[in-house]
Amino acid sequence: MVAARGGHYAVVARRNIVPGTIVMRLDGPLADMASRYTVQVGVDQHVDAEVHPAHGDRYPLWRYLNHSCAPTARVIGRTLRAITALKKGDEVTFDYDATEYDLASPFACQCGKPTCRGMIRGYRHLKSATRATMTWAAPHVLETGAPRRLSAVTRY
Ligand SMILES: [Zn+2]
Repeated sequence: MVAARGGHYAVVARRNIVPGTIVMRLDGPLADMASRYTVQVGVDQHVDAEVHPAHGDRYPLWRYLNHSCAPTARVIGRTLRAITALKKGDEVTFDYDATEYDLASPFACQCGKPTCRGMIRGYRHLKSATRATMTWAAPHVLETGAPRRLSAVTRY
């Protein structure tokens, strides 16, 4: 459910959730361009969290999912799956750098976690040492950011 947390909206668990549980699906129309309210689900595929008949002409719940550098859930395809145990009232978050190759609206993260990366701009902007810790990121960002792509760049 959506709750107001410190001046912004957050998605919080309505009950205790065990790791591995599918929390929700990111349903919605696809857009080919990223925006502040899309989540990247493929190389040129962004699912849009706008008002849509599929959501009963309301915003989908997943629109309110916040980023965390130490997330409680992970987006796999269009599925959001818990990766930690959540107690009722705990916030459900995911790591935007693990789904977005190039974030449409970069921002300064204030998650407050020891592993906080500061500016969140998308996987494209991560240092290689950080990428090495994120082998679990969405396949489309790993493929797009793979070193073999760099070898295709023409050198003069
Ligand atoms: Zn952070």
